[in-house]
Amino acid sequence: MNLDAESLAALRDALTHLSTGFDTLPNHDADTLDDAGRGVLLRVAERLTDNYPYHHPLYAGQMLKPPHPLARTAYQLAMWLNPNNHALDGGRASSAMEKEAVAELAGMFGWTEHLGHLCGGGTMANLEALWVSDQRRRGMVLASSQAHYTHGRISGVLGLEFAAVPVDPSGAMDLAALERLVAAHDVGTVVATLGTTGLGAVDPLPEILSLRDQYGFRVHVDAAYGGYFVLTDNLEEQTRAAFASAGQADSIVIDPHKHGLQPYGCGCVLFADPDVGRLYQHDSPYTYFTSDDLHLGEITLECSRAGASAVALWATHQLLPPARGGKFAESLEHCRSAALRLHRYIEKSPDYLPLMPPALDIVVWAPQGDSASIISSRSEALFTAAAGRDLHLALLSVPADIARAHWGDAVTYDADTVVCLRSTLMKPEHDAWLPEIEKILTAISGH
Ligand SMILES: *Cc1c(COP(=O)(O)O)cnc(C)c1O
Repeated sequence: MNLDAESLAALRDALTHLSTGFDTLPNHDADTLDDAGRGVLLRVAERLTDNYPYHHPLYAGQMLKPPHPLARTAYQLAMWLNPNNHALDGGRASSAMEKEAVAELAGMFGWTEHLGHLCGGGTMANLEALWVSDQRRRGMVLASSQAHYTHGRISGVLGLEFAAVPVDPSGAMDLAALERLVAAHDVGTVVATLGTTGLGAVDPLPEILSLRDQYGFRVHVDAAYGGYFVLTDNLEEQTRAAFASAGQADSIVIDPHKHGLQPYGCGCVLFADPDVGRLYQHDSPYTYFTSDDLHLGEITLECSRAGASAVALWATHQLLPPARGGKFAESLEHCRSAALRLHRYIEKSPDYLPLMPPALDIVVWAPQGDSASIISSRSEALFTAAAGRDLHLALLSVPADIARAHWGDAVTYDADTVVCLRSTLMKPEHDAWLPEIEKILTAISGH
C-alpha cells in the first residue's frame, strides 16, 4: 500500500519558499537529523505498522478519517516554525488563518457574526460551550442518553447538575421526555446532538428550539461528528431540518478532525453572541503585547495551541471550501450514500438484522439470533472474522429497548444491552468500495 510519499516533494518546495521569507537574518543552520535520528525514525515506522489500516477503505469501523494530503503537508510545513496560537506574539500568520477558517465554519451555519476558535477537540469545545452557557443561564444540563458520554463528565467538572433525556427508537432525543424534564427542573442548557457518536442519530432540533422559546433554556448543538453534513443534499427531511436550524442555537461544536479532513487536535467551538468573549477576560502579565488586535488566548480556555492546526484547516478550505454544492460537500454525500447502501444490503440479507436507517453515515446492525446474548456473541465473532478478511468494523453496545423497537419479539431480550456491529463510512471511497465490503460480509455469513 502506497502511503503517498509524493506530497513530500510539494512540502520540500514549500519549505524552500518559507525559508526565503527569513533570508535577511544572519545565517544560522537549523538542526537536522543525523544517522542516529534517522535510525530512530525507521524504528518509529516499524512501531507504527502496529495499527489498524485507518487510511484504507476496508477500514469501516470507528470514527477515523485520514487527513487530506494538503492538511497533512500544511501542518508539517507549519511545524518548521511551530507557531503557538495563544497570542499574536507566538503565531501571527496562523492566528489570522485561524480567524478566517473559523469564520468559514461559522458561515456554514449562516453566522456572519460569531465568536469562536479552534481547540484540542470536541471534548474541550463542549467544555467551553457548557462553561459559557452556565454563566449566561444557570441551571441543569440536559443531553440525550445517546449524547457523547463526556457531557455528563464535563458537567461534573463544572459542578453542574446533569440529567440524561431518554431517546426514541431512532436514538434521537425523545421530545415528550425532554418537555417533562424542562417543566419539572430549572434547566440551564439543553445539548442537542446532531449526529450521535454511536448510532449517528440526529436530535429534533427545530422542536427543541420551540421548547427553548417556551422555557427559556439555552441550546448548545454538539455537532462534533455530524456538523459538516449541513452542507449536504442527500439527507432525510427531518435531518435536513435539524441541520438547517443549527444557526438558531446559542453555541455549536464541530470537529474538523472528525469529518473535516484534519489531523487530530482540531475541534472548534462557535458562539452566536460575540459578547460572550467578555466571560474569558483575564490579565496575563506576559502575553499580549505585540498588537491591540484580538489575541486568540483572550477568548480561549486553553493557552498554548498548535498554530499548525489552523494552518492545515485554512489550507484545506482554500482547496475545498466548506460550501454547499462543492467538492467537499459532494464527498460527504458519497459517505452518506455508502451508508444507505450498506443499510439496504443488511435489510435484504437473510443473515443480518438492521437497526434504524442511517441518519448520516453510521450504520449499525447485527447478525441474526434468537436472543440478545446470542446476537452479542455473534457480533463479536463477526467482528473478528471480518478483521481476518481485512474488513475492519467496530462494535457498539445498544440498549435492549432500542433493539426491541426494531426487532420486536422475534428476539428474547435476556440482557440490558445487545452488542452490534457499527460502521462509520466516513471516507468518500467507501461508496465505491461497498460492493467489496458486501462481498466480504456475504462470504462470512455463508450465503
Ligand atoms: C467525537 C465526539 C465528541 C468528542 O470529541 P473529541 O474530539 O473526541 O474530544 C463529542 N461529541 C460528539 C457528538 C462526538 O462525536
